[in-house]
Amino acid sequence: MTELNLDVTWHAGAPARTGGAAAPIQIHWADPTTVILRQNMAVNFEAPFLYLLFGDHTAFLLDTGATEDAARFPLRATVDALIDEWLQRHPHEAYALIVAHSHAHGDHVAGDGQFAGRPLTRIVGHTAGDVAGFFALAGWPDGVAEVDLGGRVLEVIPSPGHHPSAVTVYDAVTGTLFTGDTVYPGRLYVSDFTAFEASLRTLCDFAASHQVKAVLGAHIEMSTTPRRDFPLGSTSHRAEAPLPLTVRDLQGIRDAAAGVTNRPGAHRFDNFIIWNGPCRREAAVHFARLLLSRVSSRHRPS
Ligand SMILES: [Zn+2]
Repeated sequence: MTELNLDVTWHAGAPARTGGAAAPIQIHWADPTTVILRQNMAVNFEAPFLYLLFGDHTAFLLDTGATEDAARFPLRATVDALIDEWLQRHPHEAYALIVAHSHAHGDHVAGDGQFAGRPLTRIVGHTAGDVAGFFALAGWPDGVAEVDLGGRVLEVIPSPGHHPSAVTVYDAVTGTLFTGDTVYPGRLYVSDFTAFEASLRTLCDFAASHQVKAVLGAHIEMSTTPRRDFPLGSTSHRAEAPLPLTVRDLQGIRDAAAGVTNRPGAHRFDNFIIWNGPCRREAAVHFARLLLSRVSSRHRPS
């Protein structure tokens, strides 16, 4: 098992929506076959993480980001260049690409269109039925599918709760669970709490019988201060919490969810927050915090 290098400083965004001179997509080779991409939060505040995993004959892209426009968010060009780079080191004719999604919210599928018509490319659909069909998960949300990239077999685990078609992807080569928006250091928005709890139990059971060295989600919204998140919509994250979580964190989220199962609202923990249901009051507080942070950053001498 190769260990991922997760020691990376992510671009912290810019005070204003229009600011930020950094590249629209930050690229980090976490090992010679694994790339972590992050959308610049100046392009879209969601600043999602995307993952590109290389096998001998197929690459697997998990998520396509929050922005459709290739001029502002050149995902296709970035992925093509990364695949070219990989193929220079590992020549292979007819190298394929699978474009999959942790789930189908807009900040994870917006770049799909950039891959339309790309040769040897299959794009997974957005509904739970599409995902179950693509990966041959006949008993959705039960069961685990295997995807063979050539020398690298991924396992796809249905994980509804945040979103009906959510999946978690396990990579045995690096011991990584890619958990999308189901588990990450931020606001865990739950639309179906019963399904969410079942998915967390499934993931903990999976982790108990597989080697899991890192749990990597799709966003960071917590700061390095325990219990403190960045305001919803913020395009600047100074002092972000680290991206990687552990199996212990995963178990902590499972247990925390069990403790708030019948309590709608936002529930704050050290390195994550569970939003059980719509949480309109909490969203209003965030909007006020965001406005305040914009005003104070404008008045801060630079
Ligand atoms: Zn998201």
